[in-house]
Amino acid sequence: MPSLAEVIAVLDSWYPPATAERWDSVGLTCGDPRESISRVLLAVDCLPLTVAEAIESGCQLLLTHHPLLLSPVHSIATTDPKGSMLHSMVRAGLAHFVAHTNADVAEFGVSAALADALGLQDVQPLEPGPTAELDQLAVFVPADHLPGLIDALAEAGAGAVGNYDRCTFSVEGEGTFRPLAGAAPFDGEIGTLSRKREVRVSMVLPRARREAVIAAMRRAHPYEEVAFELTEQATLDAATGTGRIGRLPAELTLREFTAEVTRRLPRTGVGVRAAGDPDRIVRTVAVCGGSGAGYADLARRSGADAYLTADLKHHSTLEAVAERGAISDEPAMALLDATHYATEAVWLPVLARRLTDHFDGTLDVSVSGIVTDPWQIHDH
Ligand SMILES: [Zn+2]
Repeated sequence: MPSLAEVIAVLDSWYPPATAERWDSVGLTCGDPRESISRVLLAVDCLPLTVAEAIESGCQLLLTHHPLLLSPVHSIATTDPKGSMLHSMVRAGLAHFVAHTNADVAEFGVSAALADALGLQDVQPLEPGPTAELDQLAVFVPADHLPGLIDALAEAGAGAVGNYDRCTFSVEGEGTFRPLAGAAPFDGEIGTLSRKREVRVSMVLPRARREAVIAAMRRAHPYEEVAFELTEQATLDAATGTGRIGRLPAELTLREFTAEVTRRLPRTGVGVRAAGDPDRIVRTVAVCGGSGAGYADLARRSGADAYLTADLKHHSTLEAVAERGAISDEPAMALLDATHYATEAVWLPVLARRLTDHFDGTLDVSVSGIVTDPWQIHDH
């Protein structure tokens, strides 16, 4: 049985807290990281019903997508609804953890799960996130000082690539130097040309660690003047980022695609709405789990025939579909508006499977059966 700290370490590696929006509030709301975890409940929202479901099913961890305490609070007394939930969780020994905007942009995150649920192919982030900014350091060092230098550089943060550390590449060659008057050479004599067998060792490092790594290099290197090269690596688009764009396996009309989205997303009270010509052909689809109205223009410029998100508004939808359609021979990009809940709940089974696999079945992970979408009645 893993500890809560061990489960959090895995979640943080999949959904790094540093990738959350600055306004967001992610991580542990309550709970003791030293306690053991055997049952986990996953839900979109932390509500009294979800908390009760987690307690009744004997869970020690409730993981929700949306934060419980996003805005600052001055009281967690039971007279406040959120305070009441916190008291229930603490009394029952139930921890609460949030993976929100850090889960939205992740490689196996919310929008990726939404693209998967629709069966999209050749999926890319709609707005790729930045990859880590890296430098490349190459140092020239006598061979017998190489291990000590690598230790010092690794200690300062160089040589880490994904799940590997101490990544280096070395080649041997000949270095020459002539110490001049005033020098205090480690090897060689003033005024005489020295030839030395040296190793050129290269390692990558996060740009943010540049000063620490150079300082460590100077401390660990035997030479008075260290010969080194430092270059900035090109930054590539990441597999992470906001929204996703991909292609349907076969083209559909907007009417058919809307029915397909309804069929593939979790069922909610109000279903899926679409704006656009019902006979418009849909092949390239952009998606964004949750409130993604702000990315509609990017979806259109990226060549999407249709964009699926939640919480779309009247005026911006009319501008995108009716107004734009009137000034072009090309049909305007269609917009599909599903419930906020449905576009995010598709991620929960993906996370449940990953957690179960990672902890080799020692963790019992289930997905809440409660639909937390507030719009329960649809009448027309
Ligand atoms: Zn959301």
